[in-house]
Amino acid sequence: MTKLIIQEFISARSVIVIISWIFLAMAIAVVGSLYYFLSSLDRLAETEIRQRMNLALKIERLHRQELLEEYSYWDEAYEKIVVEHDAQWIEKNSGDYLLEKNGFDFSVAVEEGNQASYLTKNEDAQRLSFDEIMAQGLAELMSMSGKSDSDTKAVSGYLLLGESLYLVAGGPFIDEETGAPRAGSYLALGTRMDNEYVNMLATNYQLFELKLDWIVKNQPHSMTLRSPMGNQIGRFSWKPYSPSRDIIPAVILVMAVFSLVIILVTRHILQKEQANRTKYEDKLYFEATRDALTKINNRRYFMEMGNKEFHLYKLLDRLFTVVVLDIDHFKEINDNYGHRVGDKALMHFTQLSRQGLRESDIFGRIGGEEFAIVLPDTNVKSAVEVANQIRTLLVENPLHIDGNTIHMTVSAGIVTLNKQANFEVLLDQADKALYQAKGCGRNRVMLYNISTTIDTL
Ligand code: GH3
Ligand code: MG
Ligand code: MG
Repeated sequence: MTKLIIQEFISARSVIVIISWIFLAMAIAVVGSLYYFLSSLDRLAETEIRQRMNLALKIERLHRQELLEEYSYWDEAYEKIVVEHDAQWIEKNSGDYLLEKNGFDFSVAVEEGNQASYLTKNEDAQRLSFDEIMAQGLAELMSMSGKSDSDTKAVSGYLLLGESLYLVAGGPFIDEETGAPRAGSYLALGTRMDNEYVNMLATNYQLFELKLDWIVKNQPHSMTLRSPMGNQIGRFSWKPYSPSRDIIPAVILVMAVFSLVIILVTRHILQKEQANRTKYEDKLYFEATRDALTKINNRRYFMEMGNKEFHLYKLLDRLFTVVVLDIDHFKEINDNYGHRVGDKALMHFTQLSRQGLRESDIFGRIGGEEFAIVLPDTNVKSAVEVANQIRTLLVENPLHIDGNTIHMTVSAGIVTLNKQANFEVLLDQADKALYQAKGCGRNRVMLYNISTTIDTL
């Protein structure tokens, strides 16, 4: 019976399994989306750093080209450097002004026939020679200027000189009046990209842990520098910034808290559901097995239990006695006091009857005012005592209701397990004894097959 009732529901286990699968699918979707979101964030951050690096280098080159233009567009500079070779002027202007004030490390002028007009260097660039500068890219810069469309023809590039990288801006001297480049002449200004320079870039453009290597290694988060001839001569590298690393602990924490809350809430709901279901099942079980009025076993359940016990006791060859009770002239109570009082009388009878019964006895309402008791491990004598106790109790305790005192009596038939084929036969024989009791005047207990009254009041 219990099993039948349970099968009408989806079991809590199935609910848990379904919810677990839904959670798993949700977790996979959330983790997948998060992974996609965070890796996109990291990619964006990397692109942003790379753009900043590009911008930094571009601004630096333009800035140096502008400083160069101040000289290349200046007729006096051309006269003093290329035509007059005025050493004093050169020392003052390119030495003091360009190298010391503007942070260049060398300045070099070229004249007709690619000859050095002068080369000024500061201490850091002492080992540089005109020929080396020419060979490592200045010649190429000069040819780039020749092809340039801009008015000033200023260009810039990276040169590897010795073991140092230089940012070199170059351009031809320009005739201030005509705006035409002065053929064969050229001015170039070089900045050594030393640690100090790299640190300046890192600070100004927020490029963390920026490094510059002149030995080019393949590595991520870096940018290659090429000479004007196109050779790889250096590489900037930086610390990758991955916002996901900052976010992940917070995300994990939020997810853990969220999952915990969901688990606790689900657990709570399931537990509540389970409790409700158990309560409901108990209620159904109670209703299916109990008599609605007297709350004792109903006929069906009594028969089921009685049958079980009957077969067991028969098998074990143990004592097994059945008592059937029927309230005498019960119809009169209904007729005289009404059906409601009749119901109270039935409840009054069951309450009294239960007083003398044991836990192992099976008490049931098998008809309107007909009851039966299975008494396991009980001989006939004890069964008669039980039946007589009920009978006596009923006589001694009339029902007081609505100002009336209702006296009741009960008749009983008893049979004990002998060779009966089944429980129904046993019950039938007890019934026969009961009718004998009725026939002999009621309010008495009789044994099946024994025509004498065992005990009466
Ligand atoms: P007897 O001594 O021969 O047993 O007489 P009786 O009047 O007790 O027997 P009878 O079978 O003639 O009447 C039984 C009555 O019990 C009839 C029916 O109305 C009443 N009855 C059956 N079930 C209920 C019930 O649940 N509530 C009430 N109030 N009366 C019931
Ligand atoms: Mg009766
Ligand atoms: Mg009856």
